[in-house]
Amino acid sequence: MIHYKTAAEIEIMRATCLLVGKAHAAAAKALKPGMTTQQVNDLVEAFILDNGGKPSFKNYHGFPAATCISMNEAVVHGFPGAHTLKEGDIISLDIGIYKNGFHGDSAYTYAIGEVSEEVKQLLKVTKASLYVGIEKARAGNRIGDISHAIQMYTEKTHGYGVVRELVGHGLGRDLHEDPQVPNYGKQGSGPKLKEGMVLAIEPMINMGVKDIEQLSDGWTILTKDRKPSAHFEHDVCITKGDPDILTSFAEIEQAEKANSNLSWSY
Ligand code: MG
Ligand code: MG
Repeated sequence: MIHYKTAAEIEIMRATCLLVGKAHAAAAKALKPGMTTQQVNDLVEAFILDNGGKPSFKNYHGFPAATCISMNEAVVHGFPGAHTLKEGDIISLDIGIYKNGFHGDSAYTYAIGEVSEEVKQLLKVTKASLYVGIEKARAGNRIGDISHAIQMYTEKTHGYGVVRELVGHGLGRDLHEDPQVPNYGKQGSGPKLKEGMVLAIEPMINMGVKDIEQLSDGWTILTKDRKPSAHFEHDVCITKGDPDILTSFAEIEQAEKANSNLSWSY
């Protein structure tokens, strides 16, 4: 069942979604080689709590941390620990905040120090594919129009692997609502987009094959060929006009550019 949001609910969600971007920016200011993923998580969790929110992912189906932290060949659902960031790593942070009865959910992949040109290209294309999908998030289109656009751009144009098993989703009072938003599919298929729908659109794109495996920790999803994977996510409200992106990367990108320990050439 799809829950359509009122204009007032959208504004409550927008405030939470913007807070997710600020939590990301707090991390983006701090990321550097030598930091542990536990330290990254703790910084984000403290930011969320200090701002009156709750981490959406903590204990969600038993997930062990506030933040999903997925390094290099980890696609999503990694969790923090003693692992230390080093130059050349990519780190995907997926942050969810619950506040005033609604969730915000946004992911971004950061490059620690200098990374290879092919990794930069993966990040650039994955981020661009998010906007290619969002462009189709318009009343009257269907979910498959978003899915198809992301798949064509990443798989057909750039030859990357599009993860099939994990998808975007509706968002609201629950972290995962209907409808599902796959990153692959047919134009004109799936539920029709209507005003008041809020969708978390989140391409998970692999440099190599589309296939994934789950690590024995019961959570972390890895690429089958162990090549890197990138993840970017915005929350988008369907309107009568242009897509309304409730989350923002503006402060993240600013922090990324100001932090000499991060690459940002994409
Ligand atoms: Mg997310
Ligand atoms: Mg999500």
